[in-house]
Amino acid sequence: TRDTRTVRDYIRTIHDFPHEGIIFRDVTTLFADARGFRMAVDQLLAPYAGLAIDKVVGLEARGFILGGAIAHQLSVGFVPIRKKGKLPGAVVSQTYKLEYGEGVMEIHDDALVPGNRVLIVDDLLATGGTAAAGISLCERLGAEVIGCAFVIDLPDLGGRALLEELGQDVHVLTS
Ligand code: IMP
Repeated sequence: TRDTRTVRDYIRTIHDFPHEGIIFRDVTTLFADARGFRMAVDQLLAPYAGLAIDKVVGLEARGFILGGAIAHQLSVGFVPIRKKGKLPGAVVSQTYKLEYGEGVMEIHDDALVPGNRVLIVDDLLATGGTAAAGISLCERLGAEVIGCAFVIDLPDLGGRALLEELGQDVHVLTS
């Protein structure tokens, strides 16, 4: 019989991780399944077919796994945005709000050039703070963010609304 599972069916939910009261959406079970992973990658890039894209930008860490596969499929390069202190070359840094305190994301200062058209990718959109920092880093290098694509959106946390307020095109596979 035909396999009717959708991307959502491959995502596992873990209670009380990383601390009590949190319901963690675990995409390792999606990535580990050949059919699920291919479906997710294909669906993430589908809206951008035929658009000129110069780079795929992935947000640490699960954005690297998705972004690498999407970049390969689009035959374009991949650029990582990482947490502070991980990239070896000269970087541009952006602080953003975390649940407790502040985080810092970084991009190599020569990873994008003015006029580059980029697609930003991550596994999950919550408050949108991480993605907004990523957008800001791309724009500070003169790049244009064509779209932001996520497997999961947690709409109650307002990330999608925040990114749309920033004028971004947001693409999500499931809530
Ligand atoms: P935001 O900055 O609040 O939108 O949080 C999104 C970032 O936190 C992304 O990089 C996600 O990978 C990570 N994140 C937050 N909650 C979860 C979760 O339940 N599962 C997987 N990643 C999560």
